[in-house]
Amino acid sequence: MSSTVDARKTKTVSHLIAGRPETSTAERWGDVFNPSTGRVQAQVPLGTAADADRAVRAAAEALPAWSETPAVERARVMFRYRQLLNEHCEELAALVTREHGKTLGEARAEMQRGIEMVEFACGIPSLLMGQSLENLAPQVDCETTRHPVGVCVGITPFNFPSMVPLWMFPVALVCGNTFVLKPSEKVPLSAVRLGELLVEAGLPPGAFNVLHGDKTVVDALLVHPAVRAISFVGSTDVAKYIYETGTKNGKRVQAAGGAKNHVIVMPDADLDQAVQALRASAFGCAGERCMAGSVAVPVGRIADDVVEQLTRVGERMKVGPTDGGAEVDMGPLITRAHRDRVAGYLDVAASEGASVVLDGRARELPGDGFLLGPSVVDRVRPEMRLAREEVFGPVLSVVRAGDLEEALAVGRRCEYGNGASLFTRSGWAARQFKRHFNAGMIGINIGVPAPMAWFPFTGWNKSFYGDLHIQGTEGIQFYTQQKTVMSRWFGSSQETAADPIWKSSGRGT
Ligand code: NAD
Repeated sequence: MSSTVDARKTKTVSHLIAGRPETSTAERWGDVFNPSTGRVQAQVPLGTAADADRAVRAAAEALPAWSETPAVERARVMFRYRQLLNEHCEELAALVTREHGKTLGEARAEMQRGIEMVEFACGIPSLLMGQSLENLAPQVDCETTRHPVGVCVGITPFNFPSMVPLWMFPVALVCGNTFVLKPSEKVPLSAVRLGELLVEAGLPPGAFNVLHGDKTVVDALLVHPAVRAISFVGSTDVAKYIYETGTKNGKRVQAAGGAKNHVIVMPDADLDQAVQALRASAFGCAGERCMAGSVAVPVGRIADDVVEQLTRVGERMKVGPTDGGAEVDMGPLITRAHRDRVAGYLDVAASEGASVVLDGRARELPGDGFLLGPSVVDRVRPEMRLAREEVFGPVLSVVRAGDLEEALAVGRRCEYGNGASLFTRSGWAARQFKRHFNAGMIGINIGVPAPMAWFPFTGWNKSFYGDLHIQGTEGIQFYTQQKTVMSRWFGSSQETAADPIWKSSGRGT
């Protein structure tokens, strides 16, 4: 939602450029809601192309000195940053809850995953090491070295206001790059605080900048000649657009998109464990997770029990405001419009012949926040919209399958390919599943198989555009370019080990 500058009556958010808050020249401003109360808590500038240029110039000016700073010293900045993030963890988690709406427990977990990225980045002196081989050819030695790519950009979604930015800039910075972060305009507050703490950790001004806005600033970044690499996380259509436009303009791009993740429950599974994992996977963070298990696929005779138990645990979940309210299991969605869009899928499901066995709209919910209760929709078929489209809310679809092969076929029909999980006691079924399911991140008896910092986030199909994924050593590869050096040194007739050239030339001591 955007408004004119005259509507600014609440706190306004500033860009962070060259280490200082900077007021935008924007005429358009966006509302930042507190989803728990439904009220506007701040206004964010929807920046201009001129704002984008200022941020990129600041990053470009900081690049020569920062890229020449030894990797060990760059790592030391990250060690101090990790310390500060730990000290401010509660404050940052509360900020995530206030602007996103997830529970405090979920926000703390988000911070923990983000801090792990900083811990990974602290190991950069080892991670940057190249390869070498002596005598590759007679008297020829060969080595590879890693170098920064230059000014990097991160464009991030609303659903992890801290963690997804932390997937990107700590690694980019320790590799010697400088960075412009364009956070989601729905959750700009966490990004600013992350930037302020980086300045406090001793990062030179301009090495990290926060630029607020929407498509206007993104489009300016996509064509800016000084930008060399772009990391994007968000919905699939935008990911594809960023990938196509960025690469057409000569930039390196990694773009993670939307998802539709399947959780298969085999008849031999531990039913309680599977249901608890499904509840957390489908309804955790109010379903606003790219790794949410949004489609349950019970196989064979277990299906009725799975649906019945999921309905029961869904009914029992406490839903309410997360900011300042009582302790709840699930908080609000990000905006009123998004909540209504998610609720609309329940009508779609019914009109396509599926069966809404738990309707989150029927819940009495307190206050004016963007709340919606959990829903379970049974007898969804793979061709229905609910099975094909990303809902991104607390709506769990159930697609029943006759056997494992049929469950694998459900995955093959899906255009996304982020994650999938299987619940079973059978090693054979687990092996079939991990080898053949059509997705890049696989969980065996794990509800949310999101890899941690040390492993790549390997989405497939329409869940990822690019070659090198975010996180792990693929992240290091994305933020560096390699140089391969071949060298040969000629001896001379006068030079021997006992009397090398520097001695006979009189320059030795
Ligand atoms: P979004 O695509 O609407 O926005 C993401 C970013 O792109 C924001 O910074 C936004 O300002 C910008 N943007 C939006 N529309 C644009 C346009 N037309 N042109 C240029 N820039 C544009 O995504 P969202 O709603 O903020 O986040 C939810 C989505 O992110 C879901 O689809 C979710 O699955 C996905 N996601 C994916 C992963 C992953 O790792 N695959 C992780 C988290 C979220």
